[in-house]
Amino acid sequence: MKFKKVDLPFENWELEPIIDSHTVELHHEKHHARYEKSFNSSIEGTPIMDYSSLDQVLLDIDKFDGELNDQIRRNGGGIWNHNFYWTQFIIGDRELNDEEQKILDLIVKQFGSKEAFIDEFISASLKLFGSGWIWLVNDGGELKIMTTPNQENPLMYGIRDVLIGIDLWEHAYYLKYLNSRKKYLVNVLKLTIVR
Ligand code: MN
Repeated sequence: MKFKKVDLPFENWELEPIIDSHTVELHHEKHHARYEKSFNSSIEGTPIMDYSSLDQVLLDIDKFDGELNDQIRRNGGGIWNHNFYWTQFIIGDRELNDEEQKILDLIVKQFGSKEAFIDEFISASLKLFGSGWIWLVNDGGELKIMTTPNQENPLMYGIRDVLIGIDLWEHAYYLKYLNSRKKYLVNVLKLTIVR
């Protein structure tokens, strides 16, 4: 099958003022679209076409080597990571649903407070050199903050349960926050369950 980027579950302007509409448009219509196009053209005629789940492709990355391994790591991850990114945001001032509240309770329980979690999350993101992602994952009942380089993600390390995922590539924030990854992080977290 072909693997698709999600349609945005909001209008381009709805993340304003935290993420400006121009950044959303470029990020979804140019960057995310490029990962989708590159991945689908690179897997034609390969066993990856037989998969019906992108999650499973990423979990199985070690079964593939050479060019296909690179394609999964870069462009397959690029599709998945952005699909996750766009669909995690909480728009407006709606209440958290039960599932989101449960995750927030776990965060507070494990990190001591929401603020302590946010500090740790931001400080880990500032330690990532170059482009990549920062994640909050549930690894067998234990919440962990992890970073991955480029378009790698937790599934490639056998972790399926991803709770928060923030794009740390400059294209995610440069138009509004210039080189301040920290300002972007402080603000973008206000669109997630720890807002
Ligand atoms: Mn991106």
